[in-house]
Parts: sequence; structure tokens; C-alpha cells
Amino acid sequence: MKDRLIRMIEKEGHFRAFAIDSHGMVEEARRIHGTSPVVTAGLGRSLSAAAMMGAELKTQQETISVQLKGDGPVGCIVAVSDSDSRVRGYVGEPLVDLPLKPNGKLDVSGSIGQGHLTVVHDLGMKEPYVGRVELQSGEIAEDIAYYYATSQQTPSVVALGVLVDRDYTVKAAGGYIVQLMPDCPEEVVSKLEENVAHMPAVTQMLAEQHTLEEMMEKILQGFSYDITEEREPVYHCNCGRERIERVLISLGKKELLDMAREQNGAEIRCHFCNKTYPFSEDELRELVRKI
Ligand SMILES: [Zn+2]
Repeated sequence: MKDRLIRMIEKEGHFRAFAIDSHGMVEEARRIHGTSPVVTAGLGRSLSAAAMMGAELKTQQETISVQLKGDGPVGCIVAVSDSDSRVRGYVGEPLVDLPLKPNGKLDVSGSIGQGHLTVVHDLGMKEPYVGRVELQSGEIAEDIAYYYATSQQTPSVVALGVLVDRDYTVKAAGGYIVQLMPDCPEEVVSKLEENVAHMPAVTQMLAEQHTLEEMMEKILQGFSYDITEEREPVYHCNCGRERIERVLISLGKKELLDMAREQNGAEIRCHFCNKTYPFSEDELRELVRKI
């Protein structure tokens, strides 16, 4: 089954919403990085959020990245999306193993610890826009809601979930974001809050084969809205030899010559997809000539 992402707007324009079924992309991320369940959950939530944030981007050159950095054992989680919701990501330490929380849930916040959420909106030309907030819960959804409220002045409801199966594969993954527009009336806010309070967990609904439309009908109950877009988010790495060459060139002459001399060449691995690119000593020297 393919992943899906839908976008909605309330008829009077009081809020807009995004919802994602990200089962396939999160399983692909788990397969590439060989993550343990708690890291699969943290990375999967971040990728799902990035894909929805990617759906807000206006031009093809733009990307958005969600970066969590903390003092917990996972170190960092990075998720990047382009404007087509093609996502890629990586983590500091993929094999973190922590006891379940008292409620039986994976301890995502324990794996991340205290730290920051940074959102980088790269416009593809000028300086990127960088928003940074302190982690509130480390469970990611609350942290992204806090980022929207403080950094973007957009109060939002964010829910993200990843359900890991007994064999460690991904059983369900997805989430939603509801963003209130400026001047959203108080009764709209309280009705939304009431709906959200009565919602089952995202992963429960997706694992029970509910569609995104059914999930959003519950959250947006009592409102008229249109589904304005549907797309297929995927895990996709855009690396290639040329891109890696540019990174190597950016290291500078001295670094490259050291690499060529001391290591008889180098093998560069892409963080996002683990593909390796071998460079012989001669090829490294050729790059130095290009500088
Ligand atoms: Zn790659």
C-alpha cells in the first residue's frame, strides 16, 4: 500500500490541516538505518512531520528540515522533506534500547533527552530561515506544536505516531497537523480542542485500517472543509556522485590531499541512505585540481 498525504482547508478559512499515512516511508527508513523500536518511533514521527511541513512549501527549490538534538542516547534525529514530500533522514545512534514507559509506550523522549528542536526552511537561494525552540516533552508532536506557536505564531494541534510490530517492522505510522489561521474565533478553537480530547491514538486508527479521511472526520467533526490536495509521500534520497564530489571539494585542498595521501583514497557514505561512494587516490587528486 502506498503512503498518502491529504491537505484540507476549513470552508471559512479558520484553519487548515494536513494528515499523513506514512507506514511505507517509515518502514523504509527503519530498513535503511536498522533502527531499534524506540529510534524507529522517533525517526518515523520526525519524517511524518517533515512530510506534512513539506506540503506547505511553495517552490521546488525549497526544503524543510526538522532536527532534534538532545543529551539522550540517540544524540540527534534529522528529517528533511522537499516540496513534494519526498523525505530522507538519519539518526545519531540507531540502536538505542530503553525500557518501555509505565504506560507501555516506547520512550522516545528518554531517547532524545533535554535539548532543542531546530526547523530549517531552506529557500534554495537566500539564507535559510532557522527557528529553534527548547524541547518541551521530547515526544516530538508537542515540540513541533510549540515551535509553530512560538516561532511561527500559528497555534496548532500536532499528533504523530509510529506503531512498531513484534518483529520490529513498522505496523502503522502517521499523524496530522491542524493549523489555526490568524483571527480564528474562540468557539472554533474550543470545538477543535473538544474533538481532539475525544480522539483515539493516531496509530490505533491507522492500525485498524481507518482511512485518513475517516480520521480527519473525527478531528474536524462539526466543521465544513474541503480536501484540497492529495499526494504520495515517499522516502527518497537525492544523493549522487556529483553531490558527494561537491561536499568533498568544500572540504578544501589540504583535507583532500591528506585523504589521498594517508588513506589511499576514501569511501564516502551518504548519511541519509547509507550508499557508499568510493574515491581512489587519483580521483581525489583530480578533485583537488578542480578547486
Ligand atoms: Zn543518499
